Amino acid sequence: MSRNWQEAVKEVIDESRVLTDISDLYSYSFDASFGTFVPEAVIQVKAREEVVSVVKIANEYKVPVYPRGQATSLSGGSLPVHGGMVLDVTLWTDTLEVYHDDLVVVASPGVLTADINQAAEEHGLFYPPDPSSAHVSTIAGNLAENSGGPRGLKYGVTKDYVIGLEVVTPEGKVMNTGGRTIKNVTGYDLTKLIVGSEGTLGIITKVTLKLLPKPQATKTMMAVFDDIAEAGAAISQTLTSGILPSKMELMDQNCAISVENFQPFGLPTDAEAIILIELDGHPDVLEKEIQSVDEIVRGVGARYTVLAETNKEAANLWKARKMVSPAIAAVKPTKVSEDATVPRSKIPEMIHRLNDIKEKYEIELVVFGHAGDGNLHPNIMCDKRDQEEMMRVEEAVGEIFQAAIELGGTLSGEHGIGTLKAPFMEDEVGELGIEMLKKIKDSWDPNNIMNPGKIFAEPGQKLVLRDE
Ligand SMILES: Cc1cc2nc3c(=O)[nH]c(=O)nc-3n(C[C@H](O)[C@H](O)[C@H](O)COP(=O)(O)OP(=O)(O)OC[C@H]3O[C@@H](n4cnc5c(N)ncnc54)[C@H](O)[C@@H]3O)c2cc1C
Repeated sequence: MSRNWQEAVKEVIDESRVLTDISDLYSYSFDASFGTFVPEAVIQVKAREEVVSVVKIANEYKVPVYPRGQATSLSGGSLPVHGGMVLDVTLWTDTLEVYHDDLVVVASPGVLTADINQAAEEHGLFYPPDPSSAHVSTIAGNLAENSGGPRGLKYGVTKDYVIGLEVVTPEGKVMNTGGRTIKNVTGYDLTKLIVGSEGTLGIITKVTLKLLPKPQATKTMMAVFDDIAEAGAAISQTLTSGILPSKMELMDQNCAISVENFQPFGLPTDAEAIILIELDGHPDVLEKEIQSVDEIVRGVGARYTVLAETNKEAANLWKARKMVSPAIAAVKPTKVSEDATVPRSKIPEMIHRLNDIKEKYEIELVVFGHAGDGNLHPNIMCDKRDQEEMMRVEEAVGEIFQAAIELGGTLSGEHGIGTLKAPFMEDEVGELGIEMLKKIKDSWDPNNIMNPGKIFAEPGQKLVLRDE
């Protein structure tokens, strides 16, 4: 092989989309998590045939391939930890077609999730998965991470809507899985295997998603609690009452204070917890259901509730919830965002454990999240430049994972394992679990070129949030 792999790639991809300038490479060296890893080239792919050609070259030269969407991963999913090439799909947005009569949408990998939502709504339809990053993340990234969001409580997560895929395998072959039918039990479910595989089993080049009819109406309520354990109990009691809200989002006092300091929305700052609840469905039914929920949450101790009277008031409350991330990011330069998830009955206990961890390690920790499905987001505000503080944060994060697993929960409800949580994987899935996962990886990707360094811990790998 006289030519190098970058030259080989330039023979099959327009040179303007093969980036090798050092400034470009640095732009692709980080994501929304931790760590800086500079790739050797960035390839902005726009067609299936381009991906096939590049992946074949990667196999020939044994070069790592790092698929990448908008790089909003919070677990280091797209980081090129072993150099090689980044495959950027963000320019690849040419297909976004809604098939109204089939309640299906077909999209290119780089399409933003919010654009899929909008296209569905234009047809009176609905794509329920709603990660808070929907306006800045790609559908392929959502699939690779199996992203969730507030509506996961009633509607499930990304995997529940993916019915067909076109994928370029790690050996450069084109594979189609599933199709346009809602039901399909032909063979192993390869569609579901790819969803959530974090770019380690192939490159997603086209997605087919199921849509639902758009709910006719929604109602939003804020319930305010002086005791966060009562907020946890209110969630359990609502969910066992026969009413299934579309969203139940928790914010602790620190979140409310941060939001009000950042941009006032009128959230109470003296309460220990707030739950935002959304119901959706037929307007007549909603009137009755919201009254029942009001009685339930007051019955378990809500100090008061506020029912949004107009769409504008409801939008204001949900905007306040969306503002939590930017508001807490303004408190300190670094934000460590976790997504430990526990069975719903364990939410109060998990919150107590988080408080103990906060005190033990003297860290600034806030809790918010999709509490209705047990998916909490403990966030630690810290300063990456303070080595001593970051060492305490690393220990605290390890204990958060341990607490979640001990309570029968999981390391990650929606952000994925990536590099950051890889050292903790075996604690959850066990030695045999890792062995079976590795067998799948090895048979799909014999040269280990597809997103290497993710999901599976490397020998001696530990959680490191400091710049070393
Ligand atoms: C402010 C903020 C809010 C967030 N809110 C949520 C939330 O509510 N819920 C949630 O679940 N997550 C959330 N996230 C995390 C993140 O947005 C999601 O994980 C998202 O799905 C990542 O999409 P992306 O386009 O940025 O992908 P990237 O970060 O670029 O990549 C993510 C993974 O997808 C893989 N990948 C990308 N494209 C392909 C492809 N074509 N084929 C195969 N693999 C591919 C990458 O290799 C990587 O492993 C949030 C992040 C931020 C910064």
